[in-house]
Amino acid sequence: MAEGKTVRGRFAPSPSGRMHLGNLCCALAAWLSVRSQNGVMLLRIEDLDPDRCKRAYAEQLMDDLHWLGLDWDEGPGTGQNGPYFQSERRALYEEALQMLRQQGKVYPCFCTRAQLHAVSAPHAGDGVFRYPGTCRSLSAAEIAKKSKTRDPALRFRAPAGETRFDDLFLGPQALDVQAVFGDFLVRRSDGVHAYQLAVTVDDARMGVTEVVRGRDLLASTACQLRLFEALGAPAPRYGHVPLLTNTEGRRLSKREQDLDVGVLRERFAPEALCGKLAHLLGLLDRPEAISPRDLIPLFPRANFSRPTIAVPADFAQTP
Ligand code: GLU
Repeated sequence: MAEGKTVRGRFAPSPSGRMHLGNLCCALAAWLSVRSQNGVMLLRIEDLDPDRCKRAYAEQLMDDLHWLGLDWDEGPGTGQNGPYFQSERRALYEEALQMLRQQGKVYPCFCTRAQLHAVSAPHAGDGVFRYPGTCRSLSAAEIAKKSKTRDPALRFRAPAGETRFDDLFLGPQALDVQAVFGDFLVRRSDGVHAYQLAVTVDDARMGVTEVVRGRDLLASTACQLRLFEALGAPAPRYGHVPLLTNTEGRRLSKREQDLDVGVLRERFAPEALCGKLAHLLGLLDRPEAISPRDLIPLFPRANFSRPTIAVPADFAQTP
């Protein structure tokens, strides 16, 4: 980030259900980081996948964020860099693909749907599928022939070699995208743009300078940096925060029903929940009630170098 430049950070949830404590934790961290630097906060709704995402979930998550005391300067209904729903930004993703195509940096892939879906998930780090490059060197004739029976997906020609970046909380990182992911997906065969492409185009076009998000996306950062490079856009800085887990060390999921924001809202006042979360993150010595705004000066105390934070089994029990 250039000296003196306004920080622009964002929270970019996917509206595929009600949020849980882990999502709130990421939202709070991203918000505190921006607010502690007098930056501009953006909310972008990542509703790319029409089968999983619903407008009602997006409305609900905005209501839940406001309930906790988190706000944004740009987002649905406000700001100059919209639309802020990815489902309304498809033309911009196509424009970027066109640019990559002209440079020969994407190619059609006719491999099966099962393989494609494995790599399109944002959390590919959980069970990484490396694309072996099957369709990398098809001739124009082969492409024309295969196109008659199957709509291709599009893949990005990932350069060989390590991608390096300095994580805001974890320090120097290095990952070889080609070795870990191979040529990753930028558009599925059903036309849905892949997470890696959409998130990069949006962060570039929305002028995002700082991305604070969960550790599950650490490996994806390298893919996104390769796309920034190919698109000729300046990349933001990245900071990855620990993942919340249950007491068995498993990442929080819908199974931990009492950590669903709907349930938490019934049990706690917003300041009480914020205080418990801040305590979990090490921002407060005791879980006392506090608003996100009053946490801002404490943000530099955050130690996010741990990979995970276990949520105690009685977290959602009111005293
Ligand atoms: N939409 C992604 C998710 O909900 C996060 C994207 C990002 O922060 O880069 O997991």
